[in-house]
Amino acid sequence: MKSWKSICLPWAEGGFGVKELLSWNRALLLRWVWMLDQDADSVWQRWHKYYVLQHESIWDIASQERYSVSLKGILSVRDACIQLAGGTQAAKAIIQGCIQNNQFSVSTAYAFFRTKAPISRGMAAIHSSSVVPAHQIVAALAIQNCLATVDKLQAKGLYLINRCTLCKEAAEDHQHLFFQCKYSKDVWQRILLWMGINRSGHPYWKELHWIRTRKHSKAWRKHWFLCGLAATVYMLWAERNARIFRGQERTVTRLVGYFKTDNETKGANPAATKQAAATTALRLLPSSEVFESPLSLTSGYQSSVDETKEQRDAIPIM
Ligand SMILES: [Zn+2]
Repeated sequence: MKSWKSICLPWAEGGFGVKELLSWNRALLLRWVWMLDQDADSVWQRWHKYYVLQHESIWDIASQERYSVSLKGILSVRDACIQLAGGTQAAKAIIQGCIQNNQFSVSTAYAFFRTKAPISRGMAAIHSSSVVPAHQIVAALAIQNCLATVDKLQAKGLYLINRCTLCKEAAEDHQHLFFQCKYSKDVWQRILLWMGINRSGHPYWKELHWIRTRKHSKAWRKHWFLCGLAATVYMLWAERNARIFRGQERTVTRLVGYFKTDNETKGANPAATKQAAATTALRLLPSSEVFESPLSLTSGYQSSVDETKEQRDAIPIM
């Protein structure tokens, strides 16, 4: 439900940071424009300047039929640069801006050519090395309202009965599935409690804003909360899919127990720093185990809260 063009944007602009190959190729070719504008140094430069360009400036010649494919490409990128910059002098200034330590920065040139979009604070926040990549992608799609929920499939013309598979009481859309659903609310509350936060889950933007603006919170705690947010969204989506496509259901206690079990068995390393212990607990959640891991948690809600306190002491993260 996300266009390839938007996937190619940087994370902070709502994409997944995939390179636009056309723009990247243009950036590489712009480096050749720069090289042909420099004093001849390499054999390639000398040959082009003396035999192909015949001492004319790369900025002055027009493309000719006799030119090689590569030179035609270089001239085409030169023209694109002039057009985007708004003139030859502006294009030269763009190239000058790409020079760092007397070397041409292809990344800077790529930033000039690539498609741009407004900054998305939520997406910028969720893009953290602490967050498991699979969780990061599902959370990003959820933040952008791009997951294929039933209401979206209906809007595309599919005939489906819209009933939330988690609570079986209301219609499914992003807002309901992740924050308004009885099941999801219960999951949020228990996970937040386990993380030492005595509050209910709110929409993503509120949660991300809350994490970002916790003035007295240390960096590792912000990463920890971010991991929790992304992992919870991921697990709710995985649970919804497991019910629809595999006919498998897990109770809230069982789902929340996944966090705890994993932390107990893998993440609680006394020698690790607080941040490492906290982030390891969630980084070690392989996506396949969301469905496959045999969980043996049988405790109820109250006992889960007691376990939470013990685990917080054991890590310790607070
Ligand atoms: Zn529901």
